[in-house]
Amino acid sequence: MTDAAGEESRDGAGPLTNWAGTVTYTAREVRRPRSPRELAALVAGSTRVRLLGSGHSFSRIADPGPDGVLLSTADLPREIDVDTAARTVRVAGGVRYTELAAAVHAHGLALANMASLPHISVAGSVATGTHGSGVGNGPLASAVREVELITADGAAVTIGRDEARFAGAVTSLGALGAVTALTLGLEPAYEVEQRVYTALPLRGLDFDAVAGAGYSVSLFTDWREPVFGQVWVKRRTDRPPVDFPWAAPAVRPLHPVPGMPAENCTAQLGVPGPWHERLPHFRARFTPSSGAEIQSEYLLPRAAAVDALAAVAGVREVVAGVLRTCEVRTVAADDQWLGPAYGRDSVALHFTWVRDEAAVLPVVRRLEEVLMPFGPRPHWGKVYGIPPAVLRGRYPRLARFRALVRSLDPGGTFTNAFVRDLLDAGDAGGEGDA
Ligand SMILES: Cc1cc2nc3c(=O)[nH]c(=O)nc-3n(C[C@H](O)[C@H](O)[C@H](O)COP(=O)(O)OP(=O)(O)OC[C@H]3O[C@@H](n4cnc5c(N)ncnc54)[C@H](O)[C@@H]3O)c2cc1C
Repeated sequence: MTDAAGEESRDGAGPLTNWAGTVTYTAREVRRPRSPRELAALVAGSTRVRLLGSGHSFSRIADPGPDGVLLSTADLPREIDVDTAARTVRVAGGVRYTELAAAVHAHGLALANMASLPHISVAGSVATGTHGSGVGNGPLASAVREVELITADGAAVTIGRDEARFAGAVTSLGALGAVTALTLGLEPAYEVEQRVYTALPLRGLDFDAVAGAGYSVSLFTDWREPVFGQVWVKRRTDRPPVDFPWAAPAVRPLHPVPGMPAENCTAQLGVPGPWHERLPHFRARFTPSSGAEIQSEYLLPRAAAVDALAAVAGVREVVAGVLRTCEVRTVAADDQWLGPAYGRDSVALHFTWVRDEAAVLPVVRRLEEVLMPFGPRPHWGKVYGIPPAVLRGRYPRLARFRALVRSLDPGGTFTNAFVRDLLDAGDAGGEGDA
């Protein structure tokens, strides 16, 4: 497997797919612009267009539809400009976290957090609300200071953090325009050590204490038993030592997906290392996760974590039948209107399923039934079945986002079926919205 969307298909061997091969993009044409100028010309000449980052999403969010053009960011210049005095970095629209992390680390700087893999593009990640873990860490979008876009008419638009519309401009589902650059805030480089603890029972779980035991904590279970087989605790070495009395530390490196090789994973056993070689679970030069998979994820209020986990435990035999692994993380509240952590400190329940859509989708629906009382917001880049009408009620600033889409893209050039289904409420949509 390559580390990008359907590389083999780009040589004409077949239609372009996402990284996992579970989504075939139905675009009438796929283009790979080599400069922002070429990108702007292609956008201005299209009536329906979507951008493609590294193609790691499992939903149809990037698909422009059969009458649309898919613009891959793969061949755009990989500009990364670090401003050490301002502690910011400006990254071009196709840059991946692997490249970004190495560049900022070389300047003695760091990102506050990363997702489980560094292979993903920055623009594509913040567009879907991608996150790592940590009770004090917001989603990756919370690092963004400025967004540079090419809108449907080919014009360049910059939206800075001091503008009210910025709250709709980062986790935008790709619906506002082609992101040509993002400016992110940085901090001084730091070291992290990670230890994995094994066999933490669900019964009696003090979730807040466990989730807060390190800078970034992930709990993994296959739900065959009500036990977290692995708890990954990542500690910044400039923070207090970890006190983890609830489970025993692993004595050898582990992979979170049973049966997969630990060498694909970042160093464990408490060996300190640079932030970008510990915060992701998966190493940049190896296939992340398992590859043959479908993913789903739901963000719920963190205060509901124990009750929500108990609800999943109630259907764990159904879930376990098609599951490779389930990861539980925390995400601090953010202010992006369409961010799944908007306005609420969240627990994120992630499911890596086997790659068998027919078997997985009924389980996704069952899972959503038991999570429904907790008001789950799905990850936009993963598979879910919650109807758009239900989701509209979960995003109190949805009408503002819709107005922002209309102001920047009145003809709906960047609105694909995924975005249209979500936005077309037939009424104002969203509670208490202005
Ligand atoms: C193995 C694996 C592990 C994962 N781990 C995590 C994790 O730890 N945490 C998490 O939250 N998610 C995780 N994900 C999900 C992943 O982070 C998201 O799907 C993310 O959006 C992928 O980024 P991408 O560049 O591949 O986006 P794509 O799938 O290429 O695109 C996503 C969206 O962004 C838009 N877009 C991309 N580039 C641009 C641009 N330049 N301008 C405008 N719009 C653009 C696309 O049109 C689309 O709507 C994981 C996925 C995989 C496959």
